Amino acid sequence: MAVRPIITYPDPILRRTCAPIDDPTADDVQQLARDLADTMYDAPGVGLAAPQIGVNRCIVVTDTAWRDEGAARDLHVWINPEIIWHNDELKPFEEGCLSIPDTFHEVSRPTAIKLRWIDLQGDSHEAGYEGLMATALQHEFDHLQGRLFIDLLKPMKQRLVKRRLKKRAGWKR
Ligand SMILES: [Zn+2]
Repeated sequence: MAVRPIITYPDPILRRTCAPIDDPTADDVQQLARDLADTMYDAPGVGLAAPQIGVNRCIVVTDTAWRDEGAARDLHVWINPEIIWHNDELKPFEEGCLSIPDTFHEVSRPTAIKLRWIDLQGDSHEAGYEGLMATALQHEFDHLQGRLFIDLLKPMKQRLVKRRLKKRAGWKR
């Protein structure tokens, strides 16, 4: 069990573009996946991307089911994920982020996506998702590009929210 500290906004680690993983079966990648899962379950959260624990590599874990009453854990590990299609229907959903504590805002994203990724055995997959899973995956994959959900707010609101968060974090700008 290795719960790692969660990096919070406005740490520049969250803004870097992550490097793809060459060998998902490598020990350090297997360990990173375990640390991500342990940290996500401990938080608790439904998704966590590697930069959130300070590692700029393309790997995300999600479990959108486990907090439901009586539900078993349903851990997914997504390596080098790519969204290869999304629909044109945008729907608002109130999002939060473990790297931006106590902050919840409605943002609009496509309601259905198709993606390609690699698993921990190195096998590649393609599948479509909609609803909460589509929202959670888009949020997490944005982290791998250095994007945060507050970047999707309208400009004026975005400025206010970011200024407040930086002030709270003790940043001067
Ligand atoms: Zn997040």
